[in-house]
Amino acid sequence: MPAMIPVDKALSIVLDAAPVLPFERVPPDEALGRYLQEEIRADRDYPDFDKSLMDGYAVVAADLEHGLRPLRVIQEIAAGADPARLQTVVTGTAARIMTGAPMPPGADAVLIVEETEPVPGDPQTIRPKSPVERGASVARRGADVRAGEILLETGDFIGPAEIGVLAACGRTRVQVGGRPILAVLATGDELVEPDVVPGPGRIRNSNGPLLMALARQSGAAARYLGIAPDDRPALRRMIESGLQADALVLSGGVSMGVYDLVGEALRALGVAIEFEKVSIKPGKPFTFGRSGRKLVFGCPGNPVSTYVIFQVFIRAALDRMMGSSRPRPSPVRGVLKAPFRQRPGRTGYYQSRARWSGSTYEVELLPTSGSADFVSCARGNALAIVPNDVETLSAGDSIDLLLLDDHSRR
Ligand code: AMP
Ligand code: MG
Repeated sequence: MPAMIPVDKALSIVLDAAPVLPFERVPPDEALGRYLQEEIRADRDYPDFDKSLMDGYAVVAADLEHGLRPLRVIQEIAAGADPARLQTVVTGTAARIMTGAPMPPGADAVLIVEETEPVPGDPQTIRPKSPVERGASVARRGADVRAGEILLETGDFIGPAEIGVLAACGRTRVQVGGRPILAVLATGDELVEPDVVPGPGRIRNSNGPLLMALARQSGAAARYLGIAPDDRPALRRMIESGLQADALVLSGGVSMGVYDLVGEALRALGVAIEFEKVSIKPGKPFTFGRSGRKLVFGCPGNPVSTYVIFQVFIRAALDRMMGSSRPRPSPVRGVLKAPFRQRPGRTGYYQSRARWSGSTYEVELLPTSGSADFVSCARGNALAIVPNDVETLSAGDSIDLLLLDDHSRR
């Protein structure tokens, strides 16, 4: 009997085996969902010139300190105007200025439109309704970011906001981590594809599409290999084709049944099995092996087990391959809403609903009929982690939580 190893140890083995793939240089619009592999520094000050933050009038603040005299409007400055071509604002004058436009020399504040009123019959003059502080509604050069400042770091996840930063810095190419190809192979004589009505004793292959979606959501390229029968030569052939990819994930065939042939087939193909049992619930018969630099994940066929094993181990391996600086899942703390009991022995990863209460996550463990309850995954948005030595938890106890809808990547 293979030894059952703790979750942390299994995760370390998986991460140590996962190679960081070669980097690529891509246009920023291909960088979404990948990990940055260079430091991004500001190419200039932002803003690059003193800039108005509001529509209004650029004035000399001291002018309005002792009585609100009318001001003569000497120019109009739109966003995009050349700062070198502006007239100087002096006492008694103002420049009509738009949001984003450069400040004219001499002016040190923007009086917003709402704080002015027109002078009837004199469109070139305005009357201030209030004084204004020096610097009001003005962004000084470099106020947001200084030239040379580090904006993004190696290993950062690239989401929409990072794409915006790259564009602001004028990047047309960016170095990112490689995109692993994950091959997906379902196994089992009972399986038919989802478009087929299952005959007697048959079930639809839900793990294939589930794993494809998980792979894509993780930023990997997914390749579907189909359903392998519980038959030695056919299974071997299909696994062999899966070993062309950077990683292969199988579902089913890793338990103790007579037709659980995956471990045997992997060995026959020279895959070095690192472990075959993890102290996790659900998902105990999770098998992991290596073939050179290729990784092989054998998930138990029960859909909830497959889902949990992906979220805890496979996502981390893909993150490492893609160059994430923090591939390990990082739980947050939450508070249990109701008491809970488990048989101690394995670390539990239970389908849960987590809701932010304003000060913490309130965690509700979802009722489930077991690891075949594929709907529980869809009802949950988090996995509640119950350590292996814990038997009972009370309402109000704090608990670790792996958030699953959060795609911002820890
Ligand atoms: P196995 O790990 O092969 O013993 O399968 C465990 C359970 O998961 C069995 O009830 C299988 O019918 C079911 N199962 C296996 N593969 C899939 C799949 N691709 N989609 C849905 N259920 C599956
Ligand atoms: Mg099976």
